[in-house]
Amino acid sequence: ALPISAASGGARRQGAGATMPYRPDAALPRALVVEDKVKPVQAIIMGGPGCGKHTVCRSLCEKYGMVHISIGDVLREKVRQKTESSDLIAEYMVEGRLVPDELAISIVREKINSPEVQERGWLLDNFPRTSDQAEAMMELGIIPDKFIFINVPEDVLVERCVNRRVDPETGDVYNLKTNPPPDDEEIRKRLVKRDDDNEDAITRRLEVFFEGSDDVLEIFNDIKDRKSTRLNSSH
Ligand code: ADP
Repeated sequence: ALPISAASGGARRQGAGATMPYRPDAALPRALVVEDKVKPVQAIIMGGPGCGKHTVCRSLCEKYGMVHISIGDVLREKVRQKTESSDLIAEYMVEGRLVPDELAISIVREKINSPEVQERGWLLDNFPRTSDQAEAMMELGIIPDKFIFINVPEDVLVERCVNRRVDPETGDVYNLKTNPPPDDEEIRKRLVKRDDDNEDAITRRLEVFFEGSDDVLEIFNDIKDRKSTRLNSSH
């Protein structure tokens, strides 16, 4: 794939369409040789904590082949790896606060520039969450073709987070009431409750989410009107 700095899929497509001097022997960058391939999907999905994003992301990525980029998953991995920033990141997350914009942006930039993501496309999960993140994203030329907003009432979100359990081995997400784990002692024993699925953090996460989503939806209004999908879900 092409070496990419601030370039995005968008910038790359532009490059691919530009007139090139005729050089039959030159080795073409891989990105230019896939003209007959369907254009990779580049999309954003946004929804409050517990809205079911994880499940929707999984099935969309299975169907369309793009890479799921979840800042939350990357951050949780960083906390597990015990690097020097782990404690600080864990603190933000347990309290339900957003990590600093620069960190979220640098994660996205790094992920999107990877050759695999350039080739397969991306599904950005809850990024951008602030207007600064949205602006940084545009400046980097990371422009989605599709914006999906999962609209779930606040009380339902709280209920879902409280009852959420995650299987750390498979990544499967269950809900003790509406989507109980299978009747398998082994699986049930290893299920965990996320540290930030406690009532204080949930309240904070909801507040932070709705504040940010208003700003972000406003910025993406143009894309939203033309191409977005709003999924209403209340149970
Ligand atoms: P949820 O949507 O269930 O709250 P996520 O896995 O999307 O969970 O995010 C978990 C946490 O990761 C957030 O509470 C926040 O601390 C951090 N986080 C996720 N996305 C972002 C982002 N775009 N900017 C800053 N922090 C983020």
